[in-house]
Amino acid sequence: MNNNNIVKTDVLIIGGGPSGLATAIRLADLLKQKGLEKRILLIEKGNSIGSHILSGAIIKPKIFKDLLPDVDFSEIPFDTKVTKESVMLLSKKGKFKIPFSPPYMGNKGNYCASLGEICRFLAKKAEEKGVEIYTGFAVNELLYGEDGRVLGAKTIDTGIDHHGNKMENFQEGSTIESNLVILAEGTRGNLTKILINKFAMQKGRNPQIYSLGCKELWSVPEGRIKPGQVYNTMGFPTTKVFGGGFIYGLKDNKVALGLALGLDFADPTFDTHKAFQIWKTHPFIANILKDGKLLEYGAKTMPEGGWYSLPSLFSDGVLIVGDSAGFLAMPALKGIHLAIRSGMCAAETAIIALEKNDFSGMCLCEYENYIKKSNIYKELFPVRNFRQGFINGLLAGFFNFGTQIVTCGAGFFGKLKTHHDSAVTKKLTKFRKNSFKEKTAYFEFDKTLTFDKATDVYYSGTLHDEKQVPHLQVNNKESYPTINIKEYGAPCQFYCPAEVYELHTDKTGHQELRIHFENCVHCKTCDIKEPADGITWNVPNGGNGPEYKYM
Ligand code: SF4
Repeated sequence: MNNNNIVKTDVLIIGGGPSGLATAIRLADLLKQKGLEKRILLIEKGNSIGSHILSGAIIKPKIFKDLLPDVDFSEIPFDTKVTKESVMLLSKKGKFKIPFSPPYMGNKGNYCASLGEICRFLAKKAEEKGVEIYTGFAVNELLYGEDGRVLGAKTIDTGIDHHGNKMENFQEGSTIESNLVILAEGTRGNLTKILINKFAMQKGRNPQIYSLGCKELWSVPEGRIKPGQVYNTMGFPTTKVFGGGFIYGLKDNKVALGLALGLDFADPTFDTHKAFQIWKTHPFIANILKDGKLLEYGAKTMPEGGWYSLPSLFSDGVLIVGDSAGFLAMPALKGIHLAIRSGMCAAETAIIALEKNDFSGMCLCEYENYIKKSNIYKELFPVRNFRQGFINGLLAGFFNFGTQIVTCGAGFFGKLKTHHDSAVTKKLTKFRKNSFKEKTAYFEFDKTLTFDKATDVYYSGTLHDEKQVPHLQVNNKESYPTINIKEYGAPCQFYCPAEVYELHTDKTGHQELRIHFENCVHCKTCDIKEPADGITWNVPNGGNGPEYKYM
């Protein structure tokens, strides 16, 4: 695909993660079965397939048998099968092994994997089936007809400086005209967000809520943890924020570990990355990592709202799949198999639309029926009130969860509501000495076990062209100093896991926000969490961002 041209395709898939690749594979198979020749084009903003992919990841393998019935299971590049799992309740120094597996959390028969590696494998299979894949192309605009129908997309113009002036190397983006667009951008997709707002596709549903996960991959001395050993942790370092930690033993003495915490916290100084580093100092975890070596770091958000937070999944000319829609089973902490299933449902819908040459919403609404008939509904509906039950704290959450288990998800209080994560942050005056910042002021990064954000970003391989329009935009420039800085204390300097935001104070005491966009690991937290929706994450030049190898 060249710049400066118009490309025509039958189906355009935006995003090369599990849902986008599954859509491509299943659609290619269906076209072959029907004897139809249609063009499927998949574009990915990362430098290569997998470079922007980060996940836990423990995967339910059955979905691959459904997606790739013609592939020998041993070909799928899983790392290791889960052999033993434990849920640990951590106090500051102590630990207690919970003698049972909490409902939905069991991982028997599942596999640990690098999701990036799985995606590279899926991309190879898709290409073998005739799908055209182009990486390093960022899309910043959907194209709409006068009637509002999505007609395609446009890739970003490049060669524009900080101030928006065209430079010598300016290149206009490509226009891609497509009968059908599949949005598979991952969590909080920028195009998906605009589409949902434009057509009020979240109306009557709960707002989506998210968690932020920080993850590291380590190489450790032999014998520290067995391949296939899985630990989930609760408690330390915080019981005030929903979420917990994970530690997965991988082959070749590698360990994947991370902390994923909800973004519905009130304290404007709460810092998930710092909490993650403090979590690693717990003796149980520090002993696993002792004398080990950090290999890679990454961070991303996850949609946690569940069934009641799903938007309308289609509009004229477009379908939404995977994390972009919000298919994640929270109690099980899994979304990959649901992302793949949603891609397969989208492909089943696309083949009907292609056969009828009808890409209207009237035809594409069939997608929601496929979702309701699939395992996605079976897994998400019975836990439709799970995450909302924890909004008022862990104790209330466990009580709510208990009531939901005995009532098949209904609970005693009907449909529980969510609030936008950006709206629940409280003003700084509510905290002061009791804030996370004050309570953790003692903590210092030792650069052996614990790492500051700048060092961790180095281990994410993140790079951005410095000469481009910054992809992070402050929306409320006039009110930002009084509201976001003075009243809330510039929370972005804390919640951002990549030290992108710096609150600079000059000699006169004047404060301003400085944005080091080149550090951004594309987690989207600022787009989600900033009070008064003060920051927008736009897509930067294609190929920019993290360069995950093992995540
Ligand atoms: Fe995440 Fe925003 Fe920070 Fe980028 S700037 S790493 S998207 S919080």
